[in-house]
Amino acid sequence: MPDRVFGDIPGVPIGAMFNNRQELSVAGVHRPTMAGISGAASEGADSIVVSGGYEDDEDYGDVIIYTGHGGNDPNTGKQIADQELTYGNLALAKSSIDGLPVRVVRGARGDPHYAPASGYRYDGLYFIERYWQQIGRSGHRVWQFRLHRRPSEGDLDSEVDVTPMALGPAPRLTVQVQRLIRNTAAAQVVKQLHDYACQVCGVRLVTPAGPYAEGAHIQPLGRPHDGPDVSENILCLCPNDHIRFDDGGLCVLESLDVVDMDGALIGRLRTVPSHRIGHEFLAYHRALITRR
Ligand SMILES: [Zn+2]
Repeated sequence: MPDRVFGDIPGVPIGAMFNNRQELSVAGVHRPTMAGISGAASEGADSIVVSGGYEDDEDYGDVIIYTGHGGNDPNTGKQIADQELTYGNLALAKSSIDGLPVRVVRGARGDPHYAPASGYRYDGLYFIERYWQQIGRSGHRVWQFRLHRRPSEGDLDSEVDVTPMALGPAPRLTVQVQRLIRNTAAAQVVKQLHDYACQVCGVRLVTPAGPYAEGAHIQPLGRPHDGPDVSENILCLCPNDHIRFDDGGLCVLESLDVVDMDGALIGRLRTVPSHRIGHEFLAYHRALITRR
């Protein structure tokens, strides 16, 4: 059985139709034939089926409030017990903190505004903005996940032109929104090799969904830097040090000593034998942020 696939399935376009859960499973779009969530707590969730089985679900098209599994009477859709942050729910939480894309499939029994007339339809990739627990309509605790559709194709370099309103003619500002949605297979591997501990400060952030770290590309991806998305070009950092690193607040020397923007020593970069770091990328980063 192939590894779990995050992202689009090659050859399956958005809008692809399937007659039943078996066909969805064979196509690899959503493998389980019964469960609404495909995933594992250690890996994240790769796909969900939205089919109206839970009374607390809300579907707005580009945004979905998806209720986790458990505590539900399959015949009535009503909650009869509390849900726990385990199994598929924990997998969705893991996808949320790791920024992993989730394939969304809608079934005919879902909200009639967005559900297909029959069968199941692949509706593309969504990201989980956040998740929480609350008391649902029937008085039981449910876990909920707010998913939003991936903004557009080419999201690695997505740029949003922001023209300030009501200020008259003004220069157009370009805002990079990629930080929130950038995660790659190589970054996942690097984070796992370091067990999610920051290579600069050693902090390992622990959340209910598991440990959290960010994969920081040393030579940035995308134009004009065009750094490669390989493990040698990625550091495992906490969010604070990721921002400092990206914005020139700290710098890694050839010796792997880490210095701040004034050149003061912060410490030595933490390394593990299984993660080779490309010194050519560190040199590129130093040249990029050194403004002297
Ligand atoms: Zn750190």
